[in-house]
Amino acid sequence: MVKRFRPIRRVGNHRQYVNLGPIFYRKKFESFRPLKVSLFSAKRVSCLSFRVNGKILSIIIPNKSSVFRIEKRGWVRRALFLDRDGVINLDHGYVSRIEDFQFVEGILSLMLDAQERGYLPVIVTNQSGIGRGYYTREDFECLTEWMLEEMRRIGIRIDRSQVFFCPHAPEERCGCRKPEPGMILEAAERFDLDLPHSWMIGDKVSDIQAAFRAGVGHTLLTRKNRKIERKDLHGF
Ligand SMILES: [Mg+2]
Ligand SMILES: [Zn+2]
Repeated sequence: MVKRFRPIRRVGNHRQYVNLGPIFYRKKFESFRPLKVSLFSAKRVSCLSFRVNGKILSIIIPNKSSVFRIEKRGWVRRALFLDRDGVINLDHGYVSRIEDFQFVEGILSLMLDAQERGYLPVIVTNQSGIGRGYYTREDFECLTEWMLEEMRRIGIRIDRSQVFFCPHAPEERCGCRKPEPGMILEAAERFDLDLPHSWMIGDKVSDIQAAFRAGVGHTLLTRKNRKIERKDLHGF
C-alpha cells in the first residue's frame, strides 16, 4: 500500500511528477528515492507508473482513494494502438463481413515497420453495431480471425489477444467505448505496455481522447480511409 503521495510538479494537463515516499507492497517494505512518476487520470481509474532499475512499476488507483494498489512489472513494451474502421480497413459504416473488408492502403506495411521498431500492434475498436443489433459478436470474431490471418500472412506477429473491442451501444455508458480509456488500460495490463512511449492512430477525436486519458504519449489523428505516411508519425 502506498501511504502517501504528494504531487511535486505538473507537466501538461495529464502528467505529473510525484514523490511517492515509502511504498509497501506485498507486505514487503521498499523505500524509493524520489522518482519521476507519471500520473494518468481516467474517469474511473488512475494509473501511476515509474521506472526502477529499468523496470516499470505501476499502481492502479481506483477512484483516486488514498489507498493504492501496487503491482510490480517486468520489462515493458511500447505499443502501436490502432483504431480499426477507417484506419485498418475502409470505413463504410458497420463493416461486419469479409466481403466488405478492404485494407486501407499502406496500413500493413506500416504495421510491419512498427514491428521492426519494437512496437506491439494492438487494435482497439468500438463495435457498437453489436449492441445496436446490426451484427453479432460471432460475426465480429469471424471477421477478426480472417483479418488477423491476412496480417500474419505478410509476417505481422499478431493474435486475437491483441484485439480489444467494445460491443456496447453509447447509451450503455460502459468504460470501454472510446473516448473512455478502458480498452487501452486493459491492453496495458495484459501486455505490460509502456504507454508514454506508445502510439495511437485513430480517425476520430474519440480515439485520441481515449489515448490521452490512458496516458498514451503519442497520437495521430488521421483522415478516415486515408493512407498514413511515415512522415506523419514524428519521432516514431
Ligand atoms: Mg475509426
Ligand atoms: Zn463498451
